[in-house]
Amino acid sequence: MPDPILQTRDLNSYYGDFQALYDVELDVGEGEVLAIIGANGAGKSTLMRSITGLLTNGRGQIHYRGQDISRLRADEVAELGLAMVPEGRQLFPSLSVKENLMIGAQVGRKGPWDLKAVYDLFPILEERKDQASTSLSGGQQQMVAIGRALMANPDLILFDEVSLGLAPIIIKDIYEALPGIIGEGMSAIIVEQDITKALSVSSRVFCLQEGRVSLESASDTVSREDISRAYFGIE
Ligand code: ATP
Repeated sequence: MPDPILQTRDLNSYYGDFQALYDVELDVGEGEVLAIIGANGAGKSTLMRSITGLLTNGRGQIHYRGQDISRLRADEVAELGLAMVPEGRQLFPSLSVKENLMIGAQVGRKGPWDLKAVYDLFPILEERKDQASTSLSGGQQQMVAIGRALMANPDLILFDEVSLGLAPIIIKDIYEALPGIIGEGMSAIIVEQDITKALSVSSRVFCLQEGRVSLESASDTVSREDISRAYFGIE
């Protein structure tokens, strides 16, 4: 495996007294696409929030390029080159499409992704650039959320359930755009309910079950039986 860009060790995360993650150990190699699967409530979003500094109630280490980022705020993590496409998109409803995209540029770094590159990827966003983000369809809003993350020019991009609630045709479009998005060298973590999709875009897959890693495998060799066992805990 190439050198890790991200590594978690003994990661435990909490909401108040409730423990949502237990001793999570994860390695993402430079340029690697990792998939994270698991049932509702397994802890996938909690893991994403812990990595990106949105949830700091935890213990353990999170190393990004060798630096411990577990105590950093979300904006500090973004400056280092991590960006997330959050579950539910979380756009700013009072801002236009273009203004939402520019938020990403403000928190991030310089690089190949600018407004023009995002509009080239998703031409519909240029047509709608002055409209309120809330006036767009769900799929178009997801494109804004992806574009906003790209505008930060991250080295590691986290996608939290990008296909949730979208029509199959839109999901297909977004997944077809993914290889071009991730491109040369960018690393990615993809949280995805659709296991076939998750396996098709990733080189390795992790499964979470009740806050614990229940499976780690190469995506092209993992069996359906192993996934069922790891996903549902069925022996
Ligand atoms: P989903 O697919 O439903 O988003 P998930 O795998 O992303 O599931 P998480 O959202 O990480 O799961 O939730 C993990 C656990 O933490 C669940 O038991 C959930 O109820 C709990 N949890 C999540 N967010 C909070 C919160 N803000 N306060 C308290 N408990 C929470």
